[in-house]
Amino acid sequence: MDVSIEAGVLYVVATPIGNLGDISARALETLRAADVVAAEDTRRTGVLLSHFGISARQVSLHEHNEPRQVPGLIERLRSGATVALVSDAGTPLISDPGYRLVAAAREAGIRVSPVPGPVAAMAALSVSGLPSDRFVFEGFLPAKGPARRQRLQALAGDPRTLIFYESSHRIAACLADMRETLGPERRAVVARELTKTFEQVQGGSLAGLCEWLAAHEDHSKGEFVVLAAGAPEVRDAGVPPEAERVLRMLLEELPVKKAAKLAAEVTGASRNQLYALAVKMRDPDG
Ligand code: SAM
Repeated sequence: MDVSIEAGVLYVVATPIGNLGDISARALETLRAADVVAAEDTRRTGVLLSHFGISARQVSLHEHNEPRQVPGLIERLRSGATVALVSDAGTPLISDPGYRLVAAAREAGIRVSPVPGPVAAMAALSVSGLPSDRFVFEGFLPAKGPARRQRLQALAGDPRTLIFYESSHRIAACLADMRETLGPERRAVVARELTKTFEQVQGGSLAGLCEWLAAHEDHSKGEFVVLAAGAPEVRDAGVPPEAERVLRMLLEELPVKKAAKLAAEVTGASRNQLYALAVKMRDPDG
């Protein structure tokens, strides 16, 4: 293995998302060689390091202390220390701390180098069976219902596969809101406990997934990635995006003709164009 770990470099090191077997050889070498490991939770990273027989000097770097910790770490990098940045699981910065440190290091002209590995979102996408050529990663949706639905509403017309992180306490509310905003028939996948003992990847319509979740209490346990297929690409160049969004919402509840009429009244867009678009939206293959 050709590993050359350089002094004065910030290495962004991915760690497993559940299965310790997923740690890479380079991640281990880098952690072993680092002068300092900047960790989201030093206790958790301590467990990982000791599992692999690595004794490294750790510095804590989490959401709350990151602004305070960054200058000291930059100073150490400048004076030639090798720093490895890790988070509790997966790739740092991906819904995890590290952004400020990486931005400050790059700003200071310090080399930042990736040691890539697991990311729950990519692991889920790779097994979802949903289109993977274009996707959008949204991380965690807002915790509160109205803000969550507003965010989902803004994404409802996006043709790319949508990827979200979700926790066990909010998975039911999140799926219910997705069913309401994206429509009960939209294809989606719930990927739970990836790479762990109770891994499950369940696909179906959003209505079907809400039922699946309620069918067994175990289904809402653990860590989740939720993916939804993008909206069918039925854009009509003549219809403004806002009118299309309103039309899409109205079509969830109303027949084509009524939805087009109301959307035209609300947005001022052409009724005929909206009607033609609504017909295509209802039956994209027609
Ligand atoms: N940095 C991590 C990554 O690269 O995926 C993500 C960290 S974020 C704080 C934690 C969230 O990622 C969890 O709430 C869950 O949504 C998702 N996640 C992490 N591990 C997972 C797993 N094994 N299976 C499913 N989702 C997972």
